[in-house]
Amino acid sequence: MSEFKCPKCGSENIQKCEVIYLSGTVSHSSTTTMGRYEATTEGQASTDLAQAVAPPAEQDTSWMATIVLAFFAAVVFGDGGTIPGLVLGAIALLLGKSSADADDYNKKIYPKEYERWRHSYICHRCGNRFIIR
Ligand SMILES: [Zn+2]
Repeated sequence: MSEFKCPKCGSENIQKCEVIYLSGTVSHSSTTTMGRYEATTEGQASTDLAQAVAPPAEQDTSWMATIVLAFFAAVVFGDGGTIPGLVLGAIALLLGKSSADADDYNKKIYPKEYERWRHSYICHRCGNRFIIR
């Protein structure tokens, strides 16, 4: 177990981010009774630490909006609305570009980031975050 320690301060008081995240996100339910009335509140809460070690998120793509907008642009353009058609077309292109970038991130970078996250630990003594494979 000697290799499982913080590379910065040498403390063995380290924990896997994934474990902190899963154990720090808790579902709670509490019932309050007032006379004959009873109210139940339910929810999910994350500790600050759990939020700090949350896994990377995939980026949103808006392909549907791009297609709809491009279609709309073509219709407007074909209907004689040259300028509005071109403007809509340009917006569709930009949206398509950002979706392509997000898609690229999700396919190429996100799996690596997620893999890194799965192997990352945090030191409870100095707060250092590091990877152990
Ligand atoms: Zn440390």
